[in-house]
Amino acid sequence: MGIFQPLELSTNLSPFNRCDRIQAVMKVRSIRGFKDILPDSIKRWHYIEDSAGNIFELYGFSEIRIPVVEFTDIFARSIGTSTDIVEKEMYSFTDRDGSSITLRPEGTAGVVRAYIENSLYAKSTISKLYYMGMMFRHERPQKGRYRGFYQIGAELFGTKDPYADSEIILMLWRFLEKIEVTSLIRLELSSLGDENCRPSYKQKLVKYLRPLKNELCENCQRRLEVNPLRILDCKEKKCKEISKDAPSMLDNLCDNCNKHLDHVKDSLENFSIKYILNPRIVRGLDYYTRTVFEIKTDELGAQNAVAAGGRYDGLVEELGGPPTPAVGFSIGMERLVLLHEKIVPVGFQKGVDAFIAFIGKDTKKTAFQFAYDFRKQGISVEMEYENKSLKTQLKKADKLGAKYAIIVGEEELARGKVKVRNMGSSSEEEINIDKVKQLSIKLSN
Ligand code: ATP
Ligand code: MG
Repeated sequence: MGIFQPLELSTNLSPFNRCDRIQAVMKVRSIRGFKDILPDSIKRWHYIEDSAGNIFELYGFSEIRIPVVEFTDIFARSIGTSTDIVEKEMYSFTDRDGSSITLRPEGTAGVVRAYIENSLYAKSTISKLYYMGMMFRHERPQKGRYRGFYQIGAELFGTKDPYADSEIILMLWRFLEKIEVTSLIRLELSSLGDENCRPSYKQKLVKYLRPLKNELCENCQRRLEVNPLRILDCKEKKCKEISKDAPSMLDNLCDNCNKHLDHVKDSLENFSIKYILNPRIVRGLDYYTRTVFEIKTDELGAQNAVAAGGRYDGLVEELGGPPTPAVGFSIGMERLVLLHEKIVPVGFQKGVDAFIAFIGKDTKKTAFQFAYDFRKQGISVEMEYENKSLKTQLKKADKLGAKYAIIVGEEELARGKVKVRNMGSSSEEEINIDKVKQLSIKLSN
């Protein structure tokens, strides 16, 4: 039986009885693989998102907000029909008018669609865009892998120059440095070649793998026909064993692709960013050309990819835009947050600057007025709604991390004064009511 059962609610029931009855009959729950981000952790999320935005803006990127749903075709054409995402992970629905629409499984396809549809290419040669938002993939949920998850991504359109690849990796690394997680991650780099060298490499790979076909996992036997490069990043032990001695893309790059990769490597070295060349990075998505990279970690078990990206020179044209080279990346927020919690375990709770406590008769109104005045000056304050003992109120002030508690007492108020308690040192002093304003100025600095 589903969680939703018909309720026969008598209109005679009081609201409380109705509530009890509703709770007894149905227990609400979220959809598997989707989770809430609660106030306890939201400060950390804000900090990470703000750091990304601030750094990306320094590199000339602007935020773009794209819809959460697109026509299914956009994803199928750009991500590639023989990828895990399109084959089995998309949330696709038939809309009321019969069209097939899909909750976005990643951001690049939608950004490219927006770039083309809004003719951003006509407005300037280079477009630098970043996005943040929720993505949807029907995967098996586990720690660091959800069905609804957040990504931060950036895309740079309009140049084939390897400086763009370098800049995008440097920007990503700078952000990861800013939030202090670089000791837990490594950068892996490779090249997937281009239309000159990849087809012949693919042939070489298939030639090597074909005689070993029966030893590959079922999935890879199929991949051999539709997407042989993906065999290189299969997680199955037997496939890993077989592909160990397979020809490497890096040994089969044409001169131009080699030069491009050398340039990216040189610039990373110039900025002392360590990288590991890993020819097994093939990326699940079909649209990559030349540079591909991943940020990996050993801290999150099987979920070892924190961010991934690369160059995709053919995608804009593939989706109907003018030929436009591009390079970008996307970062998995949940995995990044897990890493950040390891480095900075505390200090991201939501707190307040001051607490307004009130005791005795006719003090609440004044306390409420103070709270309003403080907030108007940009100072965060909290106070109780109901009458509580001073001890309880100060406990709460402490819990909220308030620097000061302003105590509005009946007797002091009658003398035109309030008590100010420094929550750190527990020292208290009386001040005139009109000095409270100065205190708020002090707190705002
Ligand atoms: P994985 O190999 O872990 O499935 P992916 O190659 O499918 O990753 P991308 O499509 O490159 O992932 O997405 C970029 C980043 O988004 C990943 O590196 C990861 O951090 C994050 N990510 C991808 N899928 C999920 C998910 N289901 N839940 C949480 N984060 C995810
Ligand atoms: Mg995946």
